[in-house]
Amino acid sequence: MGSARIVVIGTGYVGLTTGACLAGLGHQVTCVDVDRVKVARLAAGQVDILEPGLEELVSRGLSSRRLNFVVGSREAVADAQAVFLCVPTPMGAGGAADLRAVEAVIEEISGTVPAGCAVITKSTVPVGTAQRIRALLGRGDVPVVANPEFLREGTAVSDFLNPDRIVVGSEDELAARRVADLYADLAAPSVVTDAASAELVKYAANCFLAMKLSYVNAIAELCERLGADIESVTDGMGYDRRIGRAFLKPGPGWGGSCLPKDTHALVQVAESVGFDFSLLSSAIQENIAQRDRIVAKIAGSVGGTLAGTRIGVLGLAFKAGTNDLRDSPALSVTAMLAAHGAEVTAYDPAVDGDLPGMRIMDDPYQVAKGADGIVVLTEWDEFRRLDWTYFADLMHGDAVVDTRNLLDPQAILNAGLCWLGLGRPRRHARATA
Ligand code: NAD
Repeated sequence: MGSARIVVIGTGYVGLTTGACLAGLGHQVTCVDVDRVKVARLAAGQVDILEPGLEELVSRGLSSRRLNFVVGSREAVADAQAVFLCVPTPMGAGGAADLRAVEAVIEEISGTVPAGCAVITKSTVPVGTAQRIRALLGRGDVPVVANPEFLREGTAVSDFLNPDRIVVGSEDELAARRVADLYADLAAPSVVTDAASAELVKYAANCFLAMKLSYVNAIAELCERLGADIESVTDGMGYDRRIGRAFLKPGPGWGGSCLPKDTHALVQVAESVGFDFSLLSSAIQENIAQRDRIVAKIAGSVGGTLAGTRIGVLGLAFKAGTNDLRDSPALSVTAMLAAHGAEVTAYDPAVDGDLPGMRIMDDPYQVAKGADGIVVLTEWDEFRRLDWTYFADLMHGDAVVDTRNLLDPQAILNAGLCWLGLGRPRRHARATA
């Protein structure tokens, strides 16, 4: 398509990254949002999400005039050649994806989108959505293309520019190929298929990753019960190229803005066609159980009961490298700690301001003051470099629960504290060190 006139609707993690990167690739991009404050800030080059390289790309796009930000889709799409939908599709009633934002946009643009302009779903949408959009649009002259996005928060720009693959699907093959061409400058294979398959690729991939994490969390639990070491087990597994090393680290459970809603949505979609996806439902259950086990582990580390204890939490974001707290397992765990009567203070390098049920500190050592136990819930690299002797001086108790197996156990033991990881042998605990 060469340089195209593109409209991106929704300027969150996916939309802003898409808009800024497509402008960087030479396209003329208008980004639209309903949030006036956000649009005004973005138009002034202010990016509120933590994504390496994004602010710089936005500022380059603004100064080259290839990127602009507006409120209102109706007018914005009037001379577009491609319209990307990047609006939220949160979990709705019963676990199904809530498509109200997608439908609202379609209603808004149906009268103004020009003939031949591709309407593209980049939001994660259930199978059948392209068909539904076609019906809602009521425009035989406007092709609908599914083009799921696979970027990860924290590395969104680099993932967008170096994708493993581009997936596009449509009943209009030519339109699908034209959308694939928008990415022609990226060195990535394209999968060009029908809309239903493209829509399913995204869920199938995300749910597979969630199952892999649930599986490794269950194996970590087995390691604890059997006296094996998860680090060695996953190291041995990871050499197998059929398995790989990615998504093979135990943790406090998977979360974030995608995996929880996408797993529920796929279970629900399967149910709607009479298939009981028990494999995936079990992965969801296992993820809930993981949080319970983490809370029990923390309770055990401070003498068996949380009531009246003070717990210092390190890390609240659902993973390192982002300030996104949506569906963060760290928030569920801290809420459960508070519900069991613990007083919770927390530190996260990317989070400030207060959150319900806890005090947020602006320095990791502040969470140590008077704490009976410390729990690491997000794998921020800076936690590896903490001074544990200083922690020991500040703490009341001696427990450090490392749900990411991030810290150096020896440094903690040397400070006279007790380290407890996930799926690691008891010899790391002080009693048997
Ligand atoms: P987000 O919440 O960060 O951003 C969505 C934006 O859309 C917000 O700025 C919101 O104001 C705007 N919006 C809502 N309704 C609108 C409307 N009617 N018109 C215009 N703008 C509107 O969401 P996100 O994380 O970028 O996710 C968007 C979609 O992409 C979801 O379907 C998600 O599942 C999918 N996705 C997300 C990621 C990720 O890592 N965040 C990765 C791949 C796919």
